[in-house]
Order: sequence, then structure tokens, then C-alpha cells
Amino acid sequence: MKIQSINPATGKVHKEFKMLNTRDIPVKIDASHQAFQSWKLTSFLERKKVFINAAELLRSRKESLARIMSLEIGKRLVEGIAEIEKCAWVCEYYAENTEAMVQDEIRKTEAKQSYLVFEPLGVVLAVMPWNFPFWQVFRAAAPALMMGNTMLLKHASSVPESALAIEALLIDAGLPADIFQTLLIPSANVAMIIEDHRVRMLSFTGSEEAGRSVASLAGKNIKKIVMELGGSDPFIVLDDADIKAAAETAAISRMIVSGQSCISAKRFIVHKKVAEQFLILFKEQLESKQVGDPLDETTGVGPLSSENAVSVLNDQVQRSVAMGAKILLGGKKANREGYYYLPTILTKVTEDMPVMSEETFGPVAAVAVVTSDEEALRIANNSRFGLGASVWTQNEKRAKYFIRGLQAGGVFVNSMVKSDPRMPFGGLKFSGYGRELSEYGLKEFANLKSVWIE
Ligand code: NAP
Repeated sequence: MKIQSINPATGKVHKEFKMLNTRDIPVKIDASHQAFQSWKLTSFLERKKVFINAAELLRSRKESLARIMSLEIGKRLVEGIAEIEKCAWVCEYYAENTEAMVQDEIRKTEAKQSYLVFEPLGVVLAVMPWNFPFWQVFRAAAPALMMGNTMLLKHASSVPESALAIEALLIDAGLPADIFQTLLIPSANVAMIIEDHRVRMLSFTGSEEAGRSVASLAGKNIKKIVMELGGSDPFIVLDDADIKAAAETAAISRMIVSGQSCISAKRFIVHKKVAEQFLILFKEQLESKQVGDPLDETTGVGPLSSENAVSVLNDQVQRSVAMGAKILLGGKKANREGYYYLPTILTKVTEDMPVMSEETFGPVAAVAVVTSDEEALRIANNSRFGLGASVWTQNEKRAKYFIRGLQAGGVFVNSMVKSDPRMPFGGLKFSGYGRELSEYGLKEFANLKSVWIE
């Protein structure tokens, strides 16, 4: 069976790859399990060398790797290059810090000695999405492998070339055979990997629907899992905010990967006193972004990942309009070859409309107007998701009200929501559970062993 990647800028097949034969999957799992027996015994210094090399290789290959993303998912070249640089950063971060983060911890008890030890778990299965084809993998692989685990990657079917490029890069960086393996398999074959007793943990990033299916299999097989799912992040603009900065950042956040990021701001909740000014500036920002070829430097918004993504998004917009939303900008597919959607602003939205209650994965901003902080907080929390949230105010007391009150994995004041290797990342409600990045993300990939000596 073949797996195809389709160039979203043209709708044409970019490349074809051969899928892994189902009977070879247990062979790969066994190789990963065998490799774990020696990898777990290597020193942090040995592992560090591999990830320092990986960071160097990522930087030296950043243009060619970014080009793969442009051709597979339509990511703008500049965004792809920034993504590869961030992967290099996370490799260096865990290369430099893992050993110190997982030192034994002494606990004072009545025992002669009592302490905590962090140990690798074994084979980790990573099931990853297409929107950050390199970052999603490296943010899990760097900590998991630095910790001494091995990894099997089931990447999204639309990014086979990226998936293979990651495996090749890690091998070139000096990673011994079978520590990290890419499996080009359909999602239907994920179950047999989860069910295998040698696979000890799962790291899943993707949609709620797929997450539900993977989590139930993990539950059935009592496997630990970190779940990073979708989001509908609120972006709250209060009446004392720097409106110009808020509007500029709102546009940047909403347009990440043409609006296809879990932490893109999606619901804009703006105080009535500044709503008109915000909308003028926000609209100007979105209008200034040229829709076009992701390989072209002047492009501000590229295509969506697939034809289906355009249909789903347009359906959400049209259903919202039918319920009374007003189109201030865009609101339709772009009139050109490929999977393009125009940057869109909808006003007069209500909380029951699809653009407010569902995850919109594309360049569509829903703007709700409020008259108080309490109303802003209530609307922000009226979501099935709880990933990130952004609040704009000059007043520390008001900021604290939102920091404490927002149901989210992260709150960013006067900044857009972003991930950073030094800060834990994750969500609650239907955005998932567990954390990635920082020492908290690292320790997800460890068995915490309590030791008691009389
Ligand atoms: P997706 O359709 O859920 O796919 C994610 C991964 O799961 C892919 O590798 C996919 O493989 C696999 N998969 C799909 N159905 C499965 C099943 N029933 N059993 C096992 N595996 C299955 O998501 P996506 O479209 O790639 O990514 C977009 C979603 O990811 C959005 O909701 C976004 O918000 C979320 N996301 C979250 C984060 C975060 O950190 N919270 C980061 C990035 C993206 P196939 O491609 O072969 O189906």
C-alpha cells in the first residue's frame, strides 16, 4: 500500500511512499524493545552528544526541512524555518538539562535512607499531527530519548517525508539503530502497537476524536498517556489594553500556520469601549496579509492542509452566519487553485455558534463584545476546551483576576499563547491531560521509583 503527500498549494500529489507491511510492525516493536535494553544504560553524556549533534544538523538543514513542510502541508517557508530552529532549541535544552532534572531526590523519613529515583519506561509510541510536523515530534522525542526511552513514531499520513526526515536526521546525529523509528502505517494499525506489552507509554497529539479512540485503547491496556488535543483559545482585550499591540498580536496568533494551530487565538473577547478601535486595527492587520504560495516570501497566509479542511471550516462559518453572525472580512474560499481560505472576521457572534463552540482550524476569527470583566471570563470559560488563554490589560489586579479564573493550561498576559521548552505545556477539559516540556514534561517519560532502606 502507498501513502501519498499532496501539495495543498496545488492539490497535486507531491510524493508517494510505501507503507510498512502490517506483519513488520511487531518486528519494529521488538527492535525498539531490544534497543531500549542498551540505550537505558548509556550515560547522559552519550545521549547529550547525540542531541547536540541533532541541534546542529537541524540548523544546517533548516531550509530543506522547511521546504518539505511547505510542500506537504502548505506551511509558509519562514514559519517552517522558525519551527526547525525551535526543534534545535528543544534538543539543546534537554541535552543540557536532563541529567540535573532527574537526579535522585532525598526524602526525610524514619528510614535509614529514603529517596526517589527517575527511570526510563521503555518503548514510547508517539502519535503525532501534521500541523507542526517537526516540532511536535522533537518536543516529545528529545525528553523521552534523553531520559533513556526508545520511540516509535506514527506520524500523520499527510507528512510521510517529514517523518522519514526526522528519523534520518537522528541517525545522522549518531543515535544508535532502532532507538527512534518512523513507522509509515495507517491509523487503523495503531491499536496493535498499543496492545503490545513491550510498549509502555503513549504520547498523543491531535484531535479530540482521534484522542478519544487512542485514550480508550490505552485505558483498556493500562498504558500511561499524555494527551495534547485541540483548543479554542480565548484572546481577551480589556478597555485599558494597548489596543494596537493587542490587534497586531491577535492577527499573528490567529494566522499561525494559516490558523491551524492548537494555540492560535480563536475566540476574541473584546470590551465594548475598545471594540470598534480593535476591529479596525485587527481588520487592517488581516487584510495586509497576502494569501498565496507558502514558498513565496511575501505570502502572509498560505493554504489549509487539505480540501476537507477548507470544507469543514467553511461549513462552520456558514452555519454561524445562518445563526446571525456578520462577516466583517472574508468568509469564503479564495478564488484560486489549491486549498485556500480567505482571512475572515465574524462579529455579532453568540456562544452557541460553531465558530465559538467548536475548534476552528483555519484563518477565521470570531469577535464577541462584552461589557465587564466578569462577562469576559464567563464567555472565555464557556468552552469544552482549556488549552491556553491570552489577556490584554495594563492593570495587574485585573490580570490576576483572569490568571486565577481562566480554565486553561496556560495564561499569557499581554502576549500571545506560545510554547517554550522551559515552561510546561498542556491543557485541561477536552484539550487533554499531562504536560509536555520543562522538567514536568520530561518526568512524564519516567517511572518514579520510591526507595526505602531500613
Ligand atoms: P488527527 O486527525 O487527530 O491526527 C493526529 C494523529 O492521530 C495522526 O497521526 C493520525 O493519523 C492519528 N489518528 C487519527 N485517528 C486515529 C485513530 N482512530 N487511532 C489512532 N490514531 C489516529 O489530528 P490532526 O488533524 O493531525 O491535527 C490537528 C489537531 O491536533 C487539532 O485538533 C489540533 O488542535 C491538535 N493539536 C494539538 C496540539 C497540542 O499540543 N495540544 C498541538 C498540535 C495539534 P492519520 O493521519 O493517519 O489519520
